[in-house]
Formats: sequence, C-alpha cells, structure tokens
Amino acid sequence: MSIKIKSSEKRVLWDKELIKFDREHIWHPYTSMSNPLNVYFVESAKGVRIKLNNGTELIDGMSSWWTAIHGYNHPELNQAVKIQINNMSHVMFGGLTHRPAVELASLLIRLTPEPLRKVFFSDSGSVSVEVAIKMAKQYWYSMGKPDKSRLLTIRSGYHGDTFMAMSVCDPITGMHRIFKGILPENFFADAPQTGFDEKWDEKDIGSFRNLIEAHHESLAAVILEPIVQGAGGMRFYSPEYLKNVRSLCDKHDVLLILDEIATGFGRTGKMFACEHAGVVPDIMCIGKAMTGGYVSLAATLTTDRISSGISSYDSGTFMHGPTFMGNPLACAVSAASINLLLSTPWEKRINAIEKQLKRE
Ligand code: PLP
Repeated sequence: MSIKIKSSEKRVLWDKELIKFDREHIWHPYTSMSNPLNVYFVESAKGVRIKLNNGTELIDGMSSWWTAIHGYNHPELNQAVKIQINNMSHVMFGGLTHRPAVELASLLIRLTPEPLRKVFFSDSGSVSVEVAIKMAKQYWYSMGKPDKSRLLTIRSGYHGDTFMAMSVCDPITGMHRIFKGILPENFFADAPQTGFDEKWDEKDIGSFRNLIEAHHESLAAVILEPIVQGAGGMRFYSPEYLKNVRSLCDKHDVLLILDEIATGFGRTGKMFACEHAGVVPDIMCIGKAMTGGYVSLAATLTTDRISSGISSYDSGTFMHGPTFMGNPLACAVSAASINLLLSTPWEKRINAIEKQLKRE
C-alpha cells in the first residue's frame, strides 16, 4: 500500500486509513502484530494535554513515560530546537565536537554528585545501561581481573530491553524465559521491602549481603534503580537499603551502577534519587526527562577512577560509539530543558504535588 496526501475534506476518512495502515504494518511497544491494542490518533500536544484527531483532549498523567517534565510544546524548548536546526542538526561525534555537547556535559557534571566527571552520550536509556555495564567490565579487565564480569541486582527491577539490560530486569516479569540460553545469567537479591518512610529493618539487606559475600570475586558491578523501582511496580524503598548497598560494594570491591533513567531530573523531589541516601555511584545512567521529552538522548557518567582505569590498559580505548552519539539537536534541547528546570522553583512544586497526592 502506498500513502498519498489527500484533501482536507476527506480528513476523517483518511485518518481511518492511516490507523488501518498502522494496525496492519506498524509494531507498537509490547504488542502483538496479529491482535494489536487499539491506538488513539494524536493530532497535537500542548502543556499537559494531548489532542486527538476527533477533537477529544486527554490529560497525560504519565508525561509520555516520564519524560515531558515541562509539558508538551514548550516555547523555550521549541526555540532551542529551532535555533540549533538552523545551525546544524547532526555531525558525527568521532573526531568532532560542538557547543551543545560541551555545554550539556558541563551542566551534567555540575548537577550530578561530585566524583562523576566523565560523560558518555548515547541514544536511549537501554543503550546507556549497556555502556555502563561495558564500562564496569572493561574496568576490571584493564585492572587484570577479567573474571569480575557478572552482575548483581535486585528483583522487581527494570533497566531496558537490550540484551544486557534485559538480563538484569526482574527474572519473572522480565523476558528471561523467552531468551533463556542467550541471556547472560546474573544474580538477583530479594527486592527491598522497607518502604521509603518506614523504619529500617536490617533483615531487609540480608539476601543482598549473602549474594555479594558469596560471589564478589566474580562480580563486576551491582546495578539497581535508586529509591524507586519504576516499571517493576512503582516500589519506593528505604534510603537505608541504598546506603547498605554502597557500603557492601565498597567492602567487597564491586562497582555500583545507579540507573537514574526514570528518577533523574527532579522526579523524586531531589535532582537525582541517590541524593535521598547521600550515596554516590561509580557509574550513573540518565535519560528519559533529560531532553524534557523532546527526543531520545541518554548518558552514562563515571568517575576519574573508572575512566583512567579503563584507559590504563593496552590502547586505552573504550569500545563503544553510536552513530548519533552527542546529536547536537538532542544536546541543545536537553541543555535548554535542564536550564529551564533550574530556573523554576521545582523543589517547592514537587513538594506541593507530593502533599496533594498524599492528601487526596
Ligand atoms: N532504565 C529504567 C529505570 C527505565 O525506567 C527505562 C525505561 O523505562 C530504561 C532503563 C530504558 O530506557 P529506554 O526505554 O530509553 O531504552
């Protein structure tokens, strides 16, 4: 089937044809192609509202999977994209650099906890998790400990849909069954049970402690979502759990990767969720709200210790480099979104939203 533009009076009919085409040919997230979910046809979006082609307006309480932190179609973000597009949309990052990438990296280094000073840009959250895991593994390889290559995580987690990321998603609700045999096998501690505001119970860290004590010699890193396990059930857990994880990682010489993809950029009331526990990771993944929901962009940040460790062996090359790495449009809108966030009383607003949600 080929699609041709039709006149405006045939618009409604034409939209029906588009939906039919969509249903027959386009895969949507987590759907069957033979029995797909119904999809709504979006015409435009502004603020918190999504407008459908039949005129219906929806309030998006999910901000497009936790990305559109300033609302849709924001004039300042639109302007940042327009200015950048008139300059250049893209150049490769291999052997080249540009103002949007440098400005964004310096903002990220300023915002994230102090020892995180090296930034690797990538295209999506899942890829930033792959990069984080590669960094951890390559670090131990460079340190002469190639056997430190496995991962420890907690149940009910979600880290993305690429293979290494999938291998640390919850083994029951994740896709482990389908990809058994090719998915790397990692270690899973029980999910934390002590809620965010609840009195800390030492027993809660028992399963994690047992696993790290038993397997630290083969562990490259622990990876988890700090404070909120999002896609795995919106589980808000105690900052004490995270503090214990950090000290056990230090004790057993295992790196800590925090996946702040869903929690970063103020979403839990702090700029990054690890701040609730005063814990700093060795490697941090960010994405989602990083561009205010405009385009896909993610980053993996690490410390001088990890980056210089990786660089100390052989050619010192870190083995990753996506085609659209550091895309100027994405970096420009991301810097604009972060500056916009910083120019607002975001902490006060989040506090007020939290109070209202609890009250009502
Ligand atoms: N990590 C976490 C905590 C997430 O919530 C998600 C997406 O929901 C991802 C990773 C994967 O990000 P992406 O969908 O951009 O690949």
